[in-house]
Amino acid sequence: MKQQSVTILCPFCNKEQETNLYPIIDLAAKPTLKLGILTGSLFSATCESCQGQFEVMHEALILNGEAFYAFLLAPDYQGAELDRGEASLGELSGYQLRLVSTLDTLKEKILLFDSGLDDRAIELCKLYLLMQMQDKDVDMLFAEHQVSQGKLMFSVFDQQGVLQESIECEDALYSQLYAKAQSFSLEEQVFTRIDVNWAYGKIANA
Ligand SMILES: [Zn+2]
Repeated sequence: MKQQSVTILCPFCNKEQETNLYPIIDLAAKPTLKLGILTGSLFSATCESCQGQFEVMHEALILNGEAFYAFLLAPDYQGAELDRGEASLGELSGYQLRLVSTLDTLKEKILLFDSGLDDRAIELCKLYLLMQMQDKDVDMLFAEHQVSQGKLMFSVFDQQGVLQESIECEDALYSQLYAKAQSFSLEEQVFTRIDVNWAYGKIANA
């Protein structure tokens, strides 16, 4: 996997320096990089001058050539989908393509796909849980699948990103919504943002 050298600026001491980053990451070829993403270390740098640690966000394609998923991390793009054209997507034929803007949603996608869960059904679960909540101005992220308990756990964050609570949904609800999710087809060869807004749009139009 090719690394790319870029010039970055330390936000603490303004020292300009070089760092290496991965524009394309194949988790099947290099499984150790998965931990780097999950811990955030792959998207952070330590200043060579003041030793301060800071996040280095950049566009990246994170794929898994064995599980056939590809996530496009596009930090500055807020649209619902992104069509990268035939040329660059030729090698990703048959892959599930997703679009994310933040490291947290990228981690969530990796956890979901590696747990064998369907992210469309998960977003429908979130929508269902959100409808039961008083405060709807929150973000929800999948946390873990407690297989023996038959439950899916979600973390709820306020708009400042502070963890508020953990909530759960039964596997039975997921299974029900999984069947529903299969009826919402996705456009092929397009990186699609599957989030709770996507789920809301599908339900509203169904
Ligand atoms: Zn510094």
